[in-house]
Formats: sequence, structure tokens, C-alpha cells
Amino acid sequence: MRVPILAGNWKMNKLPGEAVEFTRALRPLVLRYPNVETVVCPPFVDLPGVADALAGVKVGVGAQNCHWADSGAYTGEVSAPMLVGLADYVIVGHSERRQYFGETDEIVNKKVKAVLASKLRPILCVGEDLAQNEAGVTDTLVSGQLRAAFDGISAAQAREVVVAYEPIWAIGTGKTASAAVAERVCGVVVRGALADLYGSTVADAIRIQYGGSANEKNIAELMAMPDIDGALIGGASLKVDAFSEMVKLTAALC
Ligand code: PEP
Repeated sequence: MRVPILAGNWKMNKLPGEAVEFTRALRPLVLRYPNVETVVCPPFVDLPGVADALAGVKVGVGAQNCHWADSGAYTGEVSAPMLVGLADYVIVGHSERRQYFGETDEIVNKKVKAVLASKLRPILCVGEDLAQNEAGVTDTLVSGQLRAAFDGISAAQAREVVVAYEPIWAIGTGKTASAAVAERVCGVVVRGALADLYGSTVADAIRIQYGGSANEKNIAELMAMPDIDGALIGGASLKVDAFSEMVKLTAALC
């Protein structure tokens, strides 16, 4: 059984004080549902306060990015070893980082390796943009991104990775992929590529999230799909009520 995982990607939102206040309000609401793994991914500077507010409770913390090197002359960057003790997960290869910060498949692969080397868990994002979707190249693109990201990753390490299928045209647009479309890509394309790489036992153990305008209105339909094991949530994760409701609705399906 794959434990459902709902992760909130706060992006560049919430000052440190706001982050702690939000986390304290969220904590009791999501702790009612231990059969769902809830994760919050604040900006770097918010991590110490959020990690402190969640110390000793089963709500995960994720960073939104890291550098691939452990240390060195990389002004403004944060390495995976620096996140140890503050985060359990690190989002890697989010489409906004690929789009605005030039992250290539090769860089994403180096980051996945760095995160795993620090015994943290990557939330690896893959997904096609609108033009690629309309050109019918979603499957090739997504499986190519996956193969590149998992290059040199052992089967044991692969089990630690959460994959987030995020069609870029659905992120922040209010246009969610239909549950049937999301299920096809998560199941046939993502889990299919993982099965090719590692065999079906490992592929069946890896959790696959959907991301892209997921909210409290569509989460139940998405989570009812057999190959969708969770969601990476942007906008709706910034509101305590919406995010905790999504956890509640997911728990009701377990
Ligand atoms: C995201 O940024 O990963 C995301 C899915 O955002 P939103 O839920 O706002 O579409």
C-alpha cells in the first residue's frame, strides 16, 4: 500500500512569522488524519521556524530546491547537507525552476543525486507545457525527463523518490487535468517508465503525485484514481482551510 502524500508548495510566499503562524494553525487539523502524509514546503528562510513548529509530529517539511554541490563558491545557493535537520523532502525540477532558472534534465539529475546522498527525499517534478501537450508529445517528454532524472539512481534509492506529474499548463491556471488524463500519465507513462527502469515491484512502491490547480473541489476525484498517490499543491496549500480540507478528503478515501 502506498501512503498518500499531499505536499504544499508555498513557492515564494509567507514571511517567517506568517509561516510559523500558518503551520501552528494547520498542524492540529492535519494530524487528525495520520493515514495521509502531509508535507509543507516553505521558502528556505522559513524552514527553521516551520521545522520547529512541527518538531515531534508527523507532518513533513520540504525545501523547494537545493544545489547539487555540498558546498563551494555558489553565491546565493543552499546545499542538500544544509537542509538536513530542517527538511525531509526537497522539491527538484519544478517547472518554474526549469523555466525561469534554466534547470536542465542533467541539472535535475545531479540534484536528485545530491538530495538522496544527504538521505533526504526528492519530490521530482516532470510535465509537459501546453505546446508540447497540443503537439502530442507528452508521453515521450515525460518519460524522457524521468529517464534523465533517474540516471545512475539505484533501485533502493528510487524507492525514496516521490514523482510529481505536473502538466505545466495546469499549474496556477485553474485548469486541472481531468482525473482520467492525470491517471493515464501517472499510471501508463510515469509508472510505466519506472517499471522499465526498475521492474514492477519497485515501480509499484514509488508514489506518484498529480500537480496543477489541485484544490478541495477536485482532489477527491483525482485521489480516487489508482495510480495517483497524492498531490503537489501550490495555490490551495497557502490556505489552511483549503489544504486541510484536501487532507481530510484524501483520508476519507483511504
Ligand atoms: C505547483 O506549483 O507545483 C502547483 C501545482 O501549483 P498550483 O496548485 O497552484 O497549480
